[in-house]
Amino acid sequence: MSGNLFEALWAGKTGGAVAFDRPGQAELSYAALHAASGRLANRLVALGVGPDDRIAVQVAKSAEAVMLYLASLRVGAVYLPLNDGYTPAEVSYFLNDARPRLLVVDPAAEAQAMALAGEAGAAVATLDADGGGSLTAGIERMSADFTDVVRTGGDLAAILYTSGTTGRSKGAMLTHRNLLSNAEALAALWRFSADDVLLHALPIYHTHGLFVAINVALLAGAAVRLLPRFTPDAVFAALPGATVMMGVPTFYTRLLADRRLDRAATAGMRLFVSGSAPLLADTHRAWEAATGHRILERYGMTETGMNTSNPYDGERRPGTVGPALHGVSVRVVDPESRAPLAADSVGMIEVRGPNVFKGYWQMPERTAAELHADGYFTTGDLGRISADGYVEIVGRGKDLIITGGLNVYPKEVESAIDALDGVVESAVIGVPHPDFGEAVTAIIVREPGAEVSEAAIGQALAARLARFKLPKTILFVDALPRNSMGKVQKSVLRAECASPKV
Ligand code: ATP
Ligand code: MG
Repeated sequence: MSGNLFEALWAGKTGGAVAFDRPGQAELSYAALHAASGRLANRLVALGVGPDDRIAVQVAKSAEAVMLYLASLRVGAVYLPLNDGYTPAEVSYFLNDARPRLLVVDPAAEAQAMALAGEAGAAVATLDADGGGSLTAGIERMSADFTDVVRTGGDLAAILYTSGTTGRSKGAMLTHRNLLSNAEALAALWRFSADDVLLHALPIYHTHGLFVAINVALLAGAAVRLLPRFTPDAVFAALPGATVMMGVPTFYTRLLADRRLDRAATAGMRLFVSGSAPLLADTHRAWEAATGHRILERYGMTETGMNTSNPYDGERRPGTVGPALHGVSVRVVDPESRAPLAADSVGMIEVRGPNVFKGYWQMPERTAAELHADGYFTTGDLGRISADGYVEIVGRGKDLIITGGLNVYPKEVESAIDALDGVVESAVIGVPHPDFGEAVTAIIVREPGAEVSEAAIGQALAARLARFKLPKTILFVDALPRNSMGKVQKSVLRAECASPKV
């Protein structure tokens, strides 16, 4: 067996088992997955795609789009999925950066894609939400036999762009070994087996929905119940017969707000996983009260896949992301000197292991600054590790507020605000201030009808937090701005609050 991830995903499969079970559509067996990805691999070769070529893909979620990912692995190409919400101007940036051989888009976007791809020297093919389009036209006449291209573990399998929460998205180069080692660690830890049915409502252009969900399920020979997108209706319809769901925290808060959520609705489930953004300890507790299940929170990022996870057996500690995964080292260091810090001290989280990426695509300086010679990667996240190894994320380094020369960790202030009656959630940011450098600013979502005033919040916080941590400004909003992965977009809040008040 070569180091090609596809071979590991396919190893030991009995062809008849269900790979994809799509509501309202025919099931797809593992044998059908093998044949369909083989045909697509032959199609890719016919389109001129070879080893190490990039395939940029901006399409609707479908089983065929997953087949395209698998076919890309099989031909030794580098899969490059793009958020389907990106505008043509954004796509143009990615094309010029990544220089793909092929761009696959929805047929409705074909004309625009031709113009963009022309500039970047890429061919264009189309794939729609039902698997139709020029990529698959006449595909049944292609041979299903394909000899997977030999890859070493260090060859690139994908370039995944980061979510762009803290700045411009960066292309993370991920190898076959990165993806396989992470899928193996997670499948074992979360006890995946061929008996599992994974309820899949995440997008497949992000590490969570693609690599955590799809790779883990396929490696284990499980069935993937692929929903086109998350809606509470679709999830409640898909829960019977499913065994595991992976979601972002907003999935859980939206399901919690639905009357249909109870023990009976989730009775067949063995595991709920959360990640991509912080899960409030309150949400964890409310979910357990409603369903009897303790959500398992884990932590990862585009550059590394998953780093830590709460345990399957043993304590799932709300507000933490659990201990380091098997084979992965996670430590907290002084952000300047990189000296390791003692247990419970807050500092920069660093990660080392087979999951850590090869570097940022065409950003050698940034790669050198963040991926160190000793193998550790600077995650950009601040956190602490308890004496018994549980990691707690305190926030992003870029979100740290320095006010009057003192550090304020937004999460500490947010947690204090969130604990107040009448508050749903909050975001705390630093806003430029002539005297303090930055002023602590709280943006708060109140419960419907709650009469929580700025003064009342200020007073309640004054009893809990040191003076320098207290918000100088409190704003109320109906909802916090979030991206498609449920991440709060503090950059949007900063821009909105940055109107100069001199
Ligand atoms: P960019 O790097 O472009 O600014 P991004 O970091 O949001 O964007 P991703 O790689 O999608 O892009 O997200 C990884 C980040 O998500 C982590 O660095 C961390 O800040 C956050 N994250 C992931 N899981 C969790 C979690 N369970 N709790 C808290 N934060 C999490
Ligand atoms: Mg990041």
